[in-house]
Amino acid sequence: MAERIGVFGGTFDPIHVGHLVTAVNVRHTLTLDRVLLVVANDPWQKATLPVTPARHRLAMVEAAVADVAGIEASALEIERGGASYTADTLAELRRRSPDAELLVILGSDAAALLDTWERVEEVRELASLVVVTRPGADTLAATLGWEHHQVEVPRLEVSSTDLRARVADGRPLDWLVTEPVIHLIRALGLYDVREMRSQRSATP
Ligand code: ATP
Repeated sequence: MAERIGVFGGTFDPIHVGHLVTAVNVRHTLTLDRVLLVVANDPWQKATLPVTPARHRLAMVEAAVADVAGIEASALEIERGGASYTADTLAELRRRSPDAELLVILGSDAAALLDTWERVEEVRELASLVVVTRPGADTLAATLGWEHHQVEVPRLEVSSTDLRARVADGRPLDWLVTEPVIHLIRALGLYDVREMRSQRSATP
């Protein structure tokens, strides 16, 4: 039987339990062989915001999924460099696994932006769509008329934006982010405004 691969892209700055719960539950519900967490190299949708270097975001994703069966970190967009377009990523995955079935996994916020995507018709030809909703949510309107799977996962009110603010304010990350990722955030001094200031003043 053809391999079924979930493609879950994100900035993952940092990866949190909302991402992990989504990946694990979509894999289970749709009986996917594996789900790739594809770390955006240059997330063009966040062009105006400062983003942590891709190698650090990838290291956090690798640490988060090291012991999770069927969930893998993917460096494909980082290796390709430049702006990260899902159309290019899917074309590469298709080249590597010509017989696989590809399913693009999106949170409902990301699905609402589908019509702004680069070469969205190519995405549509290469993959089917999985939209993740919270239990009881209405069927999504904004899927451009695509046939799509809708998977309900427990919605956890956690976002990378909130986590970055927590580090900056010195608030706890526990149970919102896995332990190995917390260690990496501390070790790399990520999101810590005080750390960033002292690094800047140490620069000759
Ligand atoms: P930011 O707060 O920086 O915008 P984010 O937490 O939304 O980041 P991204 O890396 O931008 O995380 O999101 C990648 C994917 O994960 C998107 O499809 C998004 O819809 C989904 N996602 C984000 N947060 C959650 C969550 N709490 N539960 C389920 N899916 C989520």
